[in-house]
Amino acid sequence: MSTSLLYHAFGIVGYFYQSTCFIAGVIVVAIQADHWRLRCPVCKSREIHCRGKLVRRFRTVPVGQKAVYIDLPVQRVECTRCQAVRQVKIQFADEHKRYTRSFERLVLDLSRHMTIQAVARHLGVSWDLVKGIQKDNLNKRYRLPKLAKIKRIALDEIYQGKKLGYLTIVLDLQRGAVIFVGNGKGADALIPFWKRLKRSGARIEAVATDMGPAYISAVRANIPDATLVFDHFHIIKLFNEKLTKLRQDLQREAENGLGKPVLKGIRWLLLKNPDNLDDKRNERQRLDEALKLNEPLATAYYMKEELRNIWHQPDKLSAQNALDEWVKKSRCFGCQHAQAIL
Ligand SMILES: [Zn+2]
Repeated sequence: MSTSLLYHAFGIVGYFYQSTCFIAGVIVVAIQADHWRLRCPVCKSREIHCRGKLVRRFRTVPVGQKAVYIDLPVQRVECTRCQAVRQVKIQFADEHKRYTRSFERLVLDLSRHMTIQAVARHLGVSWDLVKGIQKDNLNKRYRLPKLAKIKRIALDEIYQGKKLGYLTIVLDLQRGAVIFVGNGKGADALIPFWKRLKRSGARIEAVATDMGPAYISAVRANIPDATLVFDHFHIIKLFNEKLTKLRQDLQREAENGLGKPVLKGIRWLLLKNPDNLDDKRNERQRLDEALKLNEPLATAYYMKEELRNIWHQPDKLSAQNALDEWVKKSRCFGCQHAQAIL
């Protein structure tokens, strides 16, 4: 082997080849740092004194079927500027890692075609090491996505259970990508995001949120020029809650002997997106029958369908008209239903 092969085979530059040996079926290549390149790892000063070495072993790409390790005596230096003793920087591996960058690239290449377990078995390393390399790579590439060109975002929270609590998520609506994850919920969880957004110089046109006052005031305070949009999911969710309440009221009336038909067992059918009703289970038929027998419920259900349609309009004007129409109808229905209850 030669110093030139160190570069071409393993991507190692700035070190000299020393020797190769075979130990227990693996190849160990000993290398040496170029003394003239030694610097303080913090201030990059060359005004240093050598203070001993420590041999470290790094896993690198295999040769044929054989695993290859690189042995490097890592120099400790005392910097006269920093007045501190530190290990010099290693050019071919990240800090605290026991494998070279070329090994890392090989793992990532193989991971595109194989499972973690298959990669680990193929290279003779642990599952955790492969997983760790994948995680670090994702972290490097996606930890801080660029915000400068983002125009439309959505804010929402997810509940991860009692132990983990809430996470607040910001989505880029054009790409569908998560661009920020904050711990907790409400305005506080978004503070780091607003800071990054400001630094990026992004001009946000629209923000979709639920109707929570915390988000509304946070958006108003941080991006006052953006249009605030209440998203389809949250509005339908709110309507579904009203629909459930209406069904319960009607059920109660029926139980009080007012002669209305029984509505039990259709709650989920009412809340389901009609496109997803299962014909094999006669869901559509059961829902239609229940609605036929009960006018207020039928009206409320059709109002929900009309509300969903507002989001399917081709342009702003049609959506505006559809919404006005819907408001008129719902006022009218509100009166009728009040009369029915009375
Ligand atoms: Zn220094």
